[in-house]
Amino acid sequence: MKLVIFGPPSAGKGTQAQKLSQKYGIPQVSTGDLLRKAVAEKTPLGLKVKSYLDQGRLGPDDLIVKLIQERVSKPDCKKGYLLDGFPRTIGQAKELDKMTEVDVVLNIVVDFDVLVERAVGRRSCPKCGAVYHIKFNPPANKDTCEKCGSRLVQRDDDKEETVRNRLKVYREQTAPLVEHYRKKGKIADIDGSKGIDAVFEQMVKVVDGLSRSP
Ligand code: AMP
Repeated sequence: MKLVIFGPPSAGKGTQAQKLSQKYGIPQVSTGDLLRKAVAEKTPLGLKVKSYLDQGRLGPDDLIVKLIQERVSKPDCKKGYLLDGFPRTIGQAKELDKMTEVDVVLNIVVDFDVLVERAVGRRSCPKCGAVYHIKFNPPANKDTCEKCGSRLVQRDDDKEETVRNRLKVYREQTAPLVEHYRKKGKIADIDGSKGIDAVFEQMVKVVDGLSRSP
């Protein structure tokens, strides 16, 4: 099963991807997480992409495609995977088309104003990657990760100015991909204005429907 989760920044891709990955037993392959890890570890890739991440700009296609190719060729991706944050440009989508055929693109649709509020309140665990929100999904213990006890942080790219820039980049570079996949009959639109569980239910319906179709 090869799924793509698609939608503007802060549409809830990461949260839903974690849930889908658990339910269907396939790894969540998040370019954002892979890139942030590379930056934190100061690997050669991390040094090259740091300024892109800090400014909310997209990293170069060739580096990102190579990163994905390496990740999906690992043994845990044999049974399938869930792409979160990739592809983000037409160039990346064309490379993915050459690599494999995805089963469905879950396209989260949400109003941009809602997204700014969501992003700015988001807190992430730098150690295990768990994601919370100060208003909509607060951790039981303020500022502390429920899963591993680490201190939660606001990602640099969740600061308001960066969020607005990421939305602009999404509108200009990533939104056209919806049409690319719609033409292929791969898009399932998901109403992302609902709560976490209601959004998840819509996705499960689509994914369960895949295995029932001939
Ligand atoms: P995300 O957590 O998916 O929103 O990604 C955070 C940042 O990582 C983005 O703002 C980009 O700078 C970079 N990034 C993530 N995925 C990609 C991609 N597919 N292509 C280019 N840059 C990416």
